[in-house]
Amino acid sequence: MRVSQLYAPTLREIPAEAEVVSHQLMLRAGMIRRAAGGTYTYMPLALRILRKIESIVRQEMDAKGGQELLMPIMQPAEIWRETGRWDVYGDEMFRLKDRHNREFCLGPTHEEMITTLVKADVRSYRQLPLRLYQIQNKYRDERRPRFGLMRSREFIMKDLYSFDKDEEGLNESYEKMYEAYTNVFNRCGLTFRAVEADGGAIGGTGTHEFMVIADSGEAAIVYCPVCDYAANVEKAELNPIDMPVEELEALTIVSTPGTKSIEAVATLLDVSADRTIKTMVFQTDKGLVLALVRGDHEVNEVKIQNLLGCLTIELADEKAITEALGSAAGFIGPVGTLCSTVIADTTVMNMYNGICGANVVDQHYKNVNATRDFTPTIVGDIRHIQENDPCPHCALPVKTARGIEVGQVFKLYTKYSKALKATYLDNNGREAPMVMGCYGIGVSRTMAATIEQHNDEYGIVWPAAIAPYHVVIVPISAKDAAQMSLAENIYENLNAYGVETLLDDRNERPGVKFKDADLIGYPLKITVGPKATNENLIEVKVRRTGEIFNFAIDNYLDEVKKLLATL
Ligand code: ATP
Ligand code: MG
Repeated sequence: MRVSQLYAPTLREIPAEAEVVSHQLMLRAGMIRRAAGGTYTYMPLALRILRKIESIVRQEMDAKGGQELLMPIMQPAEIWRETGRWDVYGDEMFRLKDRHNREFCLGPTHEEMITTLVKADVRSYRQLPLRLYQIQNKYRDERRPRFGLMRSREFIMKDLYSFDKDEEGLNESYEKMYEAYTNVFNRCGLTFRAVEADGGAIGGTGTHEFMVIADSGEAAIVYCPVCDYAANVEKAELNPIDMPVEELEALTIVSTPGTKSIEAVATLLDVSADRTIKTMVFQTDKGLVLALVRGDHEVNEVKIQNLLGCLTIELADEKAITEALGSAAGFIGPVGTLCSTVIADTTVMNMYNGICGANVVDQHYKNVNATRDFTPTIVGDIRHIQENDPCPHCALPVKTARGIEVGQVFKLYTKYSKALKATYLDNNGREAPMVMGCYGIGVSRTMAATIEQHNDEYGIVWPAAIAPYHVVIVPISAKDAAQMSLAENIYENLNAYGVETLLDDRNERPGVKFKDADLIGYPLKITVGPKATNENLIEVKVRRTGEIFNFAIDNYLDEVKKLLATL
């Protein structure tokens, strides 16, 4: 391809609407343009990159026994009603009706479709396992589409579904996919971690998220620098912290005027925050809930949701608190509470002589002991892990980082096969539900995540494996016939040799061409100037390191290939 013909209009200015670097650079490099909120056109350069990521994904899926198929994006409502997800999915689902008023959705995911498909054709254990995948657009009406391709409303996903006879088979499929994902993200040149995650709306227990480590990531993860433990903070389990044993003292009311926060109470009573019990009030679909954690800890709402089995949870407002509990937020506590559900964190149960709200404005209790003064409805791990908390596996302090979720692997077990009656006959002729897993990779998000990790002040730095082109040739002067003819020659030879090469034949100043090359981020740049024509030396500059190599005209093809293999 000649750059004079390439449809990649670059921009000099940073577009105001773009908050993260991948979004900025994709707009500036002429790779994407916005069509509407959260939907984008992939222009030629972006599409080349996407196709490369997809091809890596296909190779790795096929290597693990995956078979590609393609299901409709438009899905009938009935199958979603059968699993109950037509209602559960809520506003995130794009819904439409046909001319006969029949309801459909634009697929946000395909568990219902694939299970319905497989159930009609698979009868016997001999047909299992099956690992079926597709790569296509998915649609989710995200509450906050943002960060360009990172959280869009139309995006490209690879989704694979495994069907096995039993749990053992599922575990094998899961392990194979875990390996395949590791290979995919390694081959894309990403620094990532597979973290234990929460099941969320899809359900099922065992699940890992593949997180690309980046400050712009929307997810918070913890990991242990010593053992291999890593988890999404939403999920990270915590063991109760032992507290120094003390003699139980008598429960006492203290006056604490105007002290609505843990900080204010601790300051007034001259104690550290870990002597206080923080009481948070939540409104859930199962009613009002008091959640108790040690004063210096934070409540993890996802954990409460899982323990309580509630679908919705949000902080209760002042009015609801006063009406139901007879006191104001800031002074609520578990002792003598009117709230029928009290969930206490395991560490709270180890506290001696703590401080908590007394359910009267401007008053707190001193010397509160959970074992003596109140009875929680549920005791469990409900707090958010924090930096330096003890690792749940080896007890050494954990570290936190931010991550971009590029993929997730899920054990679904029989959730969908039971709901949709996808059964098979086992080798004893007995009917049993298929045991399923599902595995997603955000292909378009992976492209954005790669840019988040691979960029510098001049632009993108593509890993060679997924670069839109490997090499750009920049003749210093398009008017110099000798230069142009040498550049043409190198261009023909490299392409014929399987190195994807662009020729910047535009009649522009070299500075403009260099700037564009750096912005788009081709791994190698070959400058053809007087040195090339006079000394027969091919000057190759590495985008990532700035290193310059001068290769002799008779062996540069191999040298370029060798160099690319390292990038
Ligand atoms: P998130 O928590 O980021 O909303 P999710 O857990 O809902 O994602 P999955 O259902 O696990 O997403 O989808 C599989 C993969 O699809 C994700 O790991 C992610 O890479 C990608 N993905 C999900 N939602 C989006 C989106 N709105 N835009 C781009 N990619 C997405
Ligand atoms: Mg996910």
